[in-house]
Amino acid sequence: MKKIEHIGIAVKDLDVSCGLYEKLLGIPCYKKEEVVSEGVNTAFFKTGENKIELLGATSESSPIARFLEKKGEGIHHIAFEVDNIELEMKRLKLEGFVLLNEQPKQGADNKLVCFVHPKGTNGVLVELCQEVK
Ligand code: ZN
Repeated sequence: MKKIEHIGIAVKDLDVSCGLYEKLLGIPCYKKEEVVSEGVNTAFFKTGENKIELLGATSESSPIARFLEKKGEGIHHIAFEVDNIELEMKRLKLEGFVLLNEQPKQGADNKLVCFVHPKGTNGVLVELCQEVK
């Protein structure tokens, strides 16, 4: 894995939090995007090499809605950039990690993504992401 690509933060109200993070970071959000398959609305900020991804639920059955219910707002996942997501998924499986999706799937911000179960990573939901060229 290369660098931390972004940190995902679960929020109750994406528009309110977008304004808050614009103030906090002193930069505008550069992209808002809905990921229908995940039931999330996202907003992205570039902070140097890395990004912040705000995540809001689009429905009550969204994984983000369930996360907010259980844990409240806060850090939801850490995403690492990889060159070859399929190789990295294979490697992690061989190491005994549990992947939440068997195939890479289309994520926000032009990425192929895969999530690693937090039970095997000390409670941290890890996302692998590979830029789609
Ligand atoms: Zn993410």
